[in-house]
Amino acid sequence: MHELSLAAEVIKLVEKEAGLNHASAISEITIEVGNISGIEAEPFESALRILTEGTMLEKSSLNIVKIKARGNCLNCKSDFEMNFRMDTCPQCGAFPSEITGGNEFRVVSMLIED
Ligand SMILES: [Zn+2]
Repeated sequence: MHELSLAAEVIKLVEKEAGLNHASAISEITIEVGNISGIEAEPFESALRILTEGTMLEKSSLNIVKIKARGNCLNCKSDFEMNFRMDTCPQCGAFPSEITGGNEFRVVSMLIED
């Protein structure tokens, strides 16, 4: 349950940040999770919902934004969606020369209450 410890880390981090801003609660947070980041968005979200009980995030809306990786094939110039890090080009079978997105795991925004 690697998602559980990550969720605990995120809560600690945002509570610290909110504390520095003298907030009483966090009303909303948005977290981006890339599909090839090694973190599963659904278990992460469930872990977050469980662990936020009794924290400053208890009433917060949790927005998990899933980001899909895209591969760029230099060989045939196609651009395709990737589900796994080792996905190859669906047109010609080559490995993408460039991967855009998919590795995200970050808190992109949070709304705090005074
Ligand atoms: Zn290709």
